[in-house]
Amino acid sequence: MAADLEAEVQAIDKSLLECSAEEIAVKWLQTNDLQKEVYQHLAYYVPKIYCRGPNPAPQREDMLAQHVLLGPMEWYLCGEDPAFGFPKLEQANKPSHLCGRVFKVGEPTYSCRDCAVDPTCVLCMECFLGSIHKEHRYRMTTSGGGGFCDCGDTEAWKEGPYCKKHEISISETAEEEDPLVHLSEDMVARAYNIFAITFKYAVDILTWEKENELPGLEIIEKSDTYYCMLFNDEVHTYEQVIYTLQKAVNCTQKEAIGFATTVDRDGRRSVRYGDFQYCDQAKSVIVRNTSRQTKPLKVQVMHSSIVAHQSFGLKLLTWLSSIIGYSDGLRRILCQVGLQEGPDGENSSLVDKLMLCDSKLWKGARNVYHQLFMSSLLMDLKYKKLFAIRFARNYERLQSDFMKDDHDREFSIADLSIQIFTVPSLARMLITEENLMTTIIKTFMDHLRHRDIQGRFQFERYTALQAFKFRRVQSLILDLKYVLISKPTEWSDDLRHKFLEGFGAFLELLKCMQGMDPITRQVGQHIEMEPEWEAAFTLQMKLTLVISMMQDWCALDEKVLIEAYKKCLTVLMQCHSGFTDGEQPIVLSMCGHSVETIRYCVSQEKVSIHLPVSRLLAGLHVLLSKTEVAYKFPELLPLSELSPPMLIEHPLRCLVLCAQVHAGMWRRNGFSLVNQIYYYHNVKCRREMFDKDIVMLQTGVSMMDPNHFLMIMLSRFELYQIFSTPDYGKRFSTENTNKDIVQQNNTLIEEMLYLIIMIVGERFSPGIGQVNATDEIKREIIHQLSIRPMAHSELVKALPEDENRETGMESVIEEVACFKKPGLTGRGLYELKPECAKNFNLYFYHFSRAEQSKAEEAQRKLKKQNREDTALPPPALPPFCPLFASLVNILQSDVMLCIMGTILQWAVEHNGYAWSESMLQRVLHLLGMALQEEKQHLENLSEENVVTFTFTQKISRPGEAPNNSPSILAMLETLQKAPHLEVHKDMIRWILKTFNAIKKLRESSSTSPVAETEGNIIEESSRDKDKAERKRKAEIARLRREKIMAQMSEMQRHFINENKELFQQTLEELDTSASGVHDNSPVVSDAKLTALGPQQTRVAEHRQVVMCILCQEEQEVKVDSRAMVLAAFIQRSTVLSKNRNKIIPDPDILMLSKRKNNEDNKDYEYTQVMM
Ligand SMILES: [Zn+2]
Ligand SMILES: [Zn+2]
Ligand SMILES: [Zn+2]
Repeated sequence: MAADLEAEVQAIDKSLLECSAEEIAVKWLQTNDLQKEVYQHLAYYVPKIYCRGPNPAPQREDMLAQHVLLGPMEWYLCGEDPAFGFPKLEQANKPSHLCGRVFKVGEPTYSCRDCAVDPTCVLCMECFLGSIHKEHRYRMTTSGGGGFCDCGDTEAWKEGPYCKKHEISISETAEEEDPLVHLSEDMVARAYNIFAITFKYAVDILTWEKENELPGLEIIEKSDTYYCMLFNDEVHTYEQVIYTLQKAVNCTQKEAIGFATTVDRDGRRSVRYGDFQYCDQAKSVIVRNTSRQTKPLKVQVMHSSIVAHQSFGLKLLTWLSSIIGYSDGLRRILCQVGLQEGPDGENSSLVDKLMLCDSKLWKGARNVYHQLFMSSLLMDLKYKKLFAIRFARNYERLQSDFMKDDHDREFSIADLSIQIFTVPSLARMLITEENLMTTIIKTFMDHLRHRDIQGRFQFERYTALQAFKFRRVQSLILDLKYVLISKPTEWSDDLRHKFLEGFGAFLELLKCMQGMDPITRQVGQHIEMEPEWEAAFTLQMKLTLVISMMQDWCALDEKVLIEAYKKCLTVLMQCHSGFTDGEQPIVLSMCGHSVETIRYCVSQEKVSIHLPVSRLLAGLHVLLSKTEVAYKFPELLPLSELSPPMLIEHPLRCLVLCAQVHAGMWRRNGFSLVNQIYYYHNVKCRREMFDKDIVMLQTGVSMMDPNHFLMIMLSRFELYQIFSTPDYGKRFSTENTNKDIVQQNNTLIEEMLYLIIMIVGERFSPGIGQVNATDEIKREIIHQLSIRPMAHSELVKALPEDENRETGMESVIEEVACFKKPGLTGRGLYELKPECAKNFNLYFYHFSRAEQSKAEEAQRKLKKQNREDTALPPPALPPFCPLFASLVNILQSDVMLCIMGTILQWAVEHNGYAWSESMLQRVLHLLGMALQEEKQHLENLSEENVVTFTFTQKISRPGEAPNNSPSILAMLETLQKAPHLEVHKDMIRWILKTFNAIKKLRESSSTSPVAETEGNIIEESSRDKDKAERKRKAEIARLRREKIMAQMSEMQRHFINENKELFQQTLEELDTSASGVHDNSPVVSDAKLTALGPQQTRVAEHRQVVMCILCQEEQEVKVDSRAMVLAAFIQRSTVLSKNRNKIIPDPDILMLSKRKNNEDNKDYEYTQVMM
């Protein structure tokens, strides 16, 4: 290599080698017009050094540039030989204590999970190893390139901001000291001059767009040499580019690969060198060859002088970057030069010019100047702030440029937002002074212009361009997250004002989402095309953390919370204005209560899963309770304007939709809906979707008559008729009703009971129940571990992460679980502590169906092992916060008692279809919850309190005329003896036991006496005991038998439950085949078939029932029934067939069964019928 270089050097123009840096510098020091001198020098020499041939010669160019171009600049700057000057500068420097190391792609970075202010704060390896954080919980990642080390940034770390290396300097430098004091006045002046000239030169030449002229420089060499420059884009593939190049410039494949690689890495590469025509010819071939399907590759024929100056311009930026490394003073001067406004005012500074041209620059140029910004502007405390302001003011423009640009975000100046917005003081300053929150949100909205008539986002039928834009615009949500990530400790009026303005803009955004992607139940026929749903969910998912953070901010300041609540309510009312329009009000009445509502059926009208405004209001409502604002300033809150029926309407519809989907009523709407329901409950979304809908219902119930609430709920579940009409159930099942409908209603009733259980039982969020945040996470862990012991990683996946990517698990795990070290194989597992099992709630709202049944099984097994009864009663719950306290009354409301009574009645009568065991199980659970509630009320009784919760009293009362139904208690006693309910006996026994315990408590506390109807229970239980005593041996044997039988029936039940569809199908098949035989009784054996005459035998009518692969509904194939055409192509497998001679017996009908491998969709099994 050295020899090569020498040979090259010898070939160089002598005049270049004879240049003396010192002499030139002296000339520059004496001139009056330095810019002119320098420009002349550059105009003459740059084209002599750069771009002398078809291929770049970086070594030669670098060497000559250093000697002829940079050398004089360094001499000028130092005023002496830079070999002495730079070390002196370095010595005089009081270095900043910021590390600022810029990461390369793939370089490891470290973040401390205990001390980092947010997860974007990282350390380089060297700093990490020298810091206290290596002893903490840390996270290691590999950098995607572009960020820098935050060591020394006191805002980035809660503790230990300095590593050992960067700590040394802090004691010596005062924080706000001007670094220029360490430089001589002459030096400052010279640095200012040379930086101003070179920086401007570089910016001008890099952003230059004309092809035959240069900014402020004459083209000295008028030679006709050009380059055909090929630019990178993200549209064309490597293969396309290589193929095109081979054609266009007649190169080998290897050369073409070389060109393509450089284009991809640096963003551009000259592919031909010569006169204009020669280059232009290549250009037209490339354009022609790449413009068929897409926009053509960008190619430009450029004069060699321009390319030369651009190459040197880049070199200069890198040089500046390294020069300022010698001294913080020089760095500050460069920052000042860069941000100084030019004569054209706004946006005329060099920094602005570069930023605003970003999307026009090629990749390599962008990288170089981004690096320079990072090592200069972002390293200087004073100018970082000024730069942040420039960045924020240009934000909208930069983002718009980024939307149009096709490069990835890491190559865009827009990506610097992470460096700026995550600095807490800067973020706060930008919010108050530049209204950044509003700017970001408005910019985002501007780019999502596609709306429906109601002004909601519409993603259906997006063009490729719109889809591309949508993907890009999502990065703005990330910016919003950065701005909000560190929460203010103090609020100024300005900050309040600007935050609320931003919050208002955010509400406008959510308003465009409220009700988007509405769906209507498909009846009769399947949807033809799955509707687009992913875009809306992507948006929701990305916004989830932002929505949570908005609430966190509101929680920090009472005034802000009050205003935010008002704003949110106003927007919600706007969304729902006219939600009763055109609806005929109807009156519902039950048990002597009546309420007016609207006629609305989820199964017939439009319904949407997206209700972010309602959900945000629900979140804020909880905060009113959590921060006690609701009690401190009730007069400032619009509580009287709240209309509970309006608040609950949409969340209730959404939950009813889920229930109906589960009941199979929406099968014809396809998978898009199944997927949406899945995400609605998923750990990534549920916090701001499903969870908040439950909260909204809790809010509603706590503000209205629970009887009214329940009636509206029954009506939305389309079950009102069943419970409001006496004996409706009985009639329903005896009449010849469609079994499908009965099944459907059963599922809906089960789902509704489940929902009531959740409304009453889910009070583990601070503000709803009297709990703290750790109780909430503990409960999540307890329920996860109730399913089975889990490894750390598994557990983390099941828990929601906050904006710092933390679940909060580590702080509480030891209280609820023991870690079992891994054995010889496998992983270490967390196991639930035995004493935590009592907190297990079978109807925990975050269980999926599969998880619920696994947990039930596991917990029953555990109880059996401990020789306890297998009842899984509801756990004792924390009390509600006052704002929600009245909610518990739903349990003892008349309508609730009526619902429970009705279902128990069905169970007692045990009549076929109209009830199900899981219905009963849920009613028993609710009874248990009510008893727990009453017991707790009694136990926490203080002198002046009167217990208003008198559930025991109410369930002891028999029904009134004309029904004259027995009391709930009496029915329970009956059920305890029912042979068909063996599995529930333990639970019923537990209920009766608790009932007695409460009775005793009442007696001892002597408050409000309980009616004395239930005396027989004690007697009965003692009689039971006697009996057991006398017939002990016989009993033991019987019990054992029974236990085994119960076990078997339990297993059977499980099996049937798990394979419901199959079971149903088999039943029906049996049915049809049986009826087939019956119908065709005169059929005789084949031998005696008579086709004609009076003895004519009836031909067996072949009845065929097939199941639809989509909706799972069966239909008989008849000439006059609805047609169903399914296309299929059957051929012998070329891979799997074992016997190729075998003939398929009946190729007409092949039944294939496939199971979707989604753990949560066990219920969806598809049988494909091919005809
Ligand atoms: Zn570092
Ligand atoms: Zn460090
Ligand atoms: Zn730490």
